[in-house]
Amino acid sequence: MTNIDFIEPLDDAEGAARARALLGDDAAGVWAAPGRVNLIGEHTDYNGGLCLPIALPHRTYIALKPHGGSAVTVVSDVAPDQSAHADLAGLEAGGVDGWAAYPVGVAWALREAGFGQVTGFDAAFVSCVPLGSGLSSSAAMTCSTALALDDVNGLGFGGSDQGRLTLIDAAIAAENDMAGASTGGLDQNASMRCTAGHAIRLDCTPGLSAAESVTQVPFDLEAHGLELLVLDTRAPHQLNDGQYAARRASCETAAARLGIDNLRILADAVAASDDPAQALADALARLDDDTMRRRVRHVVTEIGRVDAFIDAFARGDMAQAGALFDASHDSLRDDYEVTVPELDVAVDVARREGALGARMTGGGFGGSIIALVAAGESRRIAQAIADEFARRGFAAPRALSATASDSAHRVA
Ligand code: ADP
Ligand code: MG
Repeated sequence: MTNIDFIEPLDDAEGAARARALLGDDAAGVWAAPGRVNLIGEHTDYNGGLCLPIALPHRTYIALKPHGGSAVTVVSDVAPDQSAHADLAGLEAGGVDGWAAYPVGVAWALREAGFGQVTGFDAAFVSCVPLGSGLSSSAAMTCSTALALDDVNGLGFGGSDQGRLTLIDAAIAAENDMAGASTGGLDQNASMRCTAGHAIRLDCTPGLSAAESVTQVPFDLEAHGLELLVLDTRAPHQLNDGQYAARRASCETAAARLGIDNLRILADAVAASDDPAQALADALARLDDDTMRRRVRHVVTEIGRVDAFIDAFARGDMAQAGALFDASHDSLRDDYEVTVPELDVAVDVARREGALGARMTGGGFGGSIIALVAAGESRRIAQAIADEFARRGFAAPRALSATASDSAHRVA
């Protein structure tokens, strides 16, 4: 059997040097933004719920040179010989094809938000975040671009957590409106607001201030003799966009039938009730569609698991933290129905090989799993998953070890 590939992060000096070299022109600077892994709280962001992401040490680096016109040229080390071109003048939503929609969309969104001083630029991207693996390479790209454009145009939002909300909005708009990839905000907040050694408890209730929406939660696995294995199944994404939209629509319809703005309101009512299980059953009984009932049950129980996980972790009850990972996955598999065989097999093998808990992370329909494992065990368990994949004829997975790292920053 072949050895599983472990993806090492680039350090900032190396990332900056490579991005500068790819731009091939004098960059005004180099900025970096991380991918993220969500510990728990999946498909909750667009329901006004809670999530708990960490920033990965794996980042996307952007070397950028602004110029006065409206032309944009971007290149990525994914295809270093093919630059993409766009024009900001007269650009409308959906007006850029391919991956360039992400960085061009950020400039477009900032201009739409009233920052007309954002002009054309040349930029080069170098990344060690796996693409399309549920680890948010797209947010790493849009957030690094937003921070770079903020800096070179003197907008002044990058230096504070509150200011970064404006850049996050532009990154979200780029994905939703220019790239046509629906996103609920978890990824961009994680990439822009996480700090080293911490997860963020992200409260997605609409309209919160920066201070209200994020709490930094210490996340030091080493102190507990543990580490976090991330394994990218490399399962081909199937019908991803349509399924994601369908889940969102189902949640919105359910909330409307229950007469509430979003499912977070139900989750809070259930949590506050004397008999949460009965309160949830009563609410579900008001919905006449079984599929919708299961979708709602996932969202409500998953929101509850976020604070339960934070509590368990703070108490040092790692068995309970692991059990909550397991419960989250099972809910995503059975009630939300966003897993695929590769995700379920990877989780099963991780559990069988001694992980305290394992779950899919990200939107699902492919992508990655995470597993809470004893320190030093990541490689052995990842290899066991790779061997099982080979036996089943699945694509070879790849892995990385995740430590809670810093948010987007200037590196050169
Ligand atoms: P994820 O964000 O989980 O990696 P998405 O499907 O949201 O998955 O985003 C992946 C897409 O983002 C890619 O298909 C590509 O269009 C774009 N992208 C992200 N990073 C890069 C990069 N470094 N170079 C070129 N395109 C990128
Ligand atoms: Mg993405």
